[in-house]
Amino acid sequence: MTGAGSLVDSHGRILRDLRVSLTDRCNFRCLYCLPETEAAQNFYRGHWAHLPNPTPIVQQWVPRGNLLSFEEVERVVRLAVSLGLEKIRLTGGEPLLRHDVEQLVARIAQTPGLADLAMTTNGFLFPSKARSLREAGLRRVSFSLDSLDRDNFRKITGRDGLAEVLQSIRLAQELGFHPVKVNAVIIREINDHEIESLAEFARTHDLSLRFIEFMPLDSARAWQKEMVVSGTEVLARLQARFALHPVAPDNPSATAKRWRLPDGRGEIGIIAPVSEPFCGHCNRIRLTADGKIRTCLFSVTEHDLRPHLRGGASDEAITEWLRAVVWQKEARHHIGEPDFVSPPRSMSCIGG
Ligand code: SAM
Ligand code: SF4
Repeated sequence: MTGAGSLVDSHGRILRDLRVSLTDRCNFRCLYCLPETEAAQNFYRGHWAHLPNPTPIVQQWVPRGNLLSFEEVERVVRLAVSLGLEKIRLTGGEPLLRHDVEQLVARIAQTPGLADLAMTTNGFLFPSKARSLREAGLRRVSFSLDSLDRDNFRKITGRDGLAEVLQSIRLAQELGFHPVKVNAVIIREINDHEIESLAEFARTHDLSLRFIEFMPLDSARAWQKEMVVSGTEVLARLQARFALHPVAPDNPSATAKRWRLPDGRGEIGIIAPVSEPFCGHCNRIRLTADGKIRTCLFSVTEHDLRPHLRGGASDEAITEWLRAVVWQKEARHHIGEPDFVSPPRSMSCIGG
């Protein structure tokens, strides 16, 4: 075993959670992530046209040869787990676009010491892969679902895919994935009228639903604080409708504050990184699809692991490099402050 001991940053936080992006590409164009559709542009230009509009990110997709291979991803995961990271989440972009992703899942699931392997997906391709993913050892899956209305779903995601995503959620439950989570990014004037119906959906289907604040990570740099529906506002709306029972956090680094829905069926969680940052107990790092380590979602600096992986570095050399990188993890993000600088890449490239 290389690198005995945990990965710690200079603020005393012990890292436990690694998000691995498998691709920066996506088959959706969500208006909070890759707002390239006419509907997305109309939304921002229309209702929010009076707000300043900074320069969009020029979306540059990662060339194929720069994507980490399955062997490289598996090696990074193995070394990270040997350094005490115990939770791995596969994400993207859309992770199910990666060919033979179930083979990677099967390899990672075998990693000695790994406690938890999960995936975040938009769910569109899940029905064709669900069984093989489950057999490969995937236990937990989170789906993005921002609307229960077919037209609004299409407006938000750029794809007429509501039926497929609903089918995916049902199928994941039938196949015994647990928990099946659903993520909804709430944006003012686009889906804030659906807060209650999304919670009702979680209750009816006994799901864990996470309401997430809109963060400045979209490729159009169209985010403005006026569009954010705060966690406090979401909670007040839900409390007016449902008798909610608080759920104690299962670990000190949990990002969601949680409540059980009535009758013990389903729960909601609120993730409020903008209005109530949880940086002080953040235990995450990210590996991008092209092999960069990001120590914060909002990092403006990335640390390039790929040359080490491809340049013959030993396991010991890579673990030492990881220690040095993690030590530099940012204290906190600066969203909403005058010195805030958006990351140079959008959420689909960073790995949400
Ligand atoms: N494509 C997959 C999906 O959508 O679930 C995985 C990648 S996506 C980047 C991961 C998560 O990030 C999704 O739940 C999505 O809703 C969330 N996300 C993307 N852009 C965001 C933004 N600007 N603010 C808040 N959450 C965002
Ligand atoms: Fe694709 Fe996920 Fe980004 Fe939507 S949030 S565009 S599904 S990567």
